[in-house]
Amino acid sequence: MLKIYNTLTRKKEEFTPIKEGKVCMYSCGPTVYSFAHIGNLRTYVFMDLFRRVLKYDGYKLKGVMNITDVGHLTSDEDEGEDKMEKASREQKKSPYEIAEFYAKVFFEDLKKLNIGRPEIVEKITDHIPETIAYVQELIDKGYAYEIDDGIYYDISKFPGYGKLSRLNLDEQQAGARVEVNSQKRHPADFAVWKKAEPNHIMQWESPWGMGYPGWHIECSALSRKYLGFPFDIHTGGVDHIPVHHENEIAQNEAITGKKTVNYWVHGDFMLVDNGKMSKSLGNTYTISDLEKRGYSAMDFRYFCLNAHYRKKLNFTFDGMDGAKVSYARLLGALYQHKTSDKKTDENVIKAYKDEFVEAINDDLNVPRALGILWKAVKEPKSRDIYELALDFDKVLGLSLDQAKPEEQPKVDAPAEVVELAEQRVNAKKEKNYALADELRAKIAALGYQVVDTKEGYTLAKTE
Ligand code: AMP
Ligand code: ZN
Repeated sequence: MLKIYNTLTRKKEEFTPIKEGKVCMYSCGPTVYSFAHIGNLRTYVFMDLFRRVLKYDGYKLKGVMNITDVGHLTSDEDEGEDKMEKASREQKKSPYEIAEFYAKVFFEDLKKLNIGRPEIVEKITDHIPETIAYVQELIDKGYAYEIDDGIYYDISKFPGYGKLSRLNLDEQQAGARVEVNSQKRHPADFAVWKKAEPNHIMQWESPWGMGYPGWHIECSALSRKYLGFPFDIHTGGVDHIPVHHENEIAQNEAITGKKTVNYWVHGDFMLVDNGKMSKSLGNTYTISDLEKRGYSAMDFRYFCLNAHYRKKLNFTFDGMDGAKVSYARLLGALYQHKTSDKKTDENVIKAYKDEFVEAINDDLNVPRALGILWKAVKEPKSRDIYELALDFDKVLGLSLDQAKPEEQPKVDAPAEVVELAEQRVNAKKEKNYALADELRAKIAALGYQVVDTKEGYTLAKTE
């Protein structure tokens, strides 16, 4: 029996789908105005693990994901510059070209990471009539009103506002970063439709003149259309709890008057060097950045699998090195099992399988599941262990069928580079990680990548 932590109740709950044997899941998709960074991708690895566990448990899955190809604004609020429009201007391409390009790269990244594509993936620009109809319904039901720059949701009409984040409105206001629009009835009222300035690139006809949908209405309109209210599970990153998902609930319940999503499940954030990822800090790495530094997408997936989805995960290159080495070692060990003609007692295999099933069903405890795999891999070599690993891989998605002899990366570098690497070993011994990172950067500038191993380190030439 699967147990999952529901943000709405702040409890681990037993999962019961609305329709027996079938699960309907909505996942907030990317805004495609630039490359997805590794933090975004961590959230989709989490979505994928959830999907895989449900399938492993025998459920039939209907997953829906939106592609936000209408630029929502620079902040969670309703002000600021439209990101799609900005990218479009800077890259001298139409917003449709921008969206198509980044959506394509996004799905290529998902494929490299063995993240299964949800059954239904839909673009917002293909659903403008649905968003307009939704906004009209909110107006007709008295939940939304028109002012000069758009149609706004009237949160005073929805007493349940704030139930997901458990923030009261004053606290939400304290966090708001934008000027209050004086025509709004309440500062926290949010736009469900924005009227477009004449020079705004993406705009559509509506009963309220030319305009474009608000960000939050997109997910309400799509989940309603493809899954219907109520549905089972809604996923996203924790940043969506206080505004985006709170607003989705307000919009949904205005239509139905009751709960529309049974389980709200959120993945925690990825940090870089214990801090926020941001373009200005230059630490928003993409999969292609990692590949250029000699890591594969699978190394990154392995790295993600080591942390529970509800814990913050701190990204460092040392951590990635660790993941790379462990993953190679895992494939190496499994290769020996694969090529063995010995057997393992079926009770032993069953015990591992039981433990694994228990772990993944305990709020998707994948780090524990990975530990169980490692324990099994340390058994005497046998083909049965390899088969067991392939079964676990239905959940882990680590391409374990690619098991191959472990390669020892060569230490073959100029003396100057080796000297820096030695200095780095000392810096790490003295726990001077800042210096260690500096030395890593110097080594990288000379065209080499240092990878930590159990025995010390290896050096590999970068392209
Ligand atoms: P966006 O394209 O900005 O809508 O983000 C796509 C997904 O990535 C959302 O589900 C966010 O919650 C998630 N996300 C954004 N930043 C991070 C981060 N640093 N770590 C994990 N997930 C993130
Ligand atoms: Zn959403």
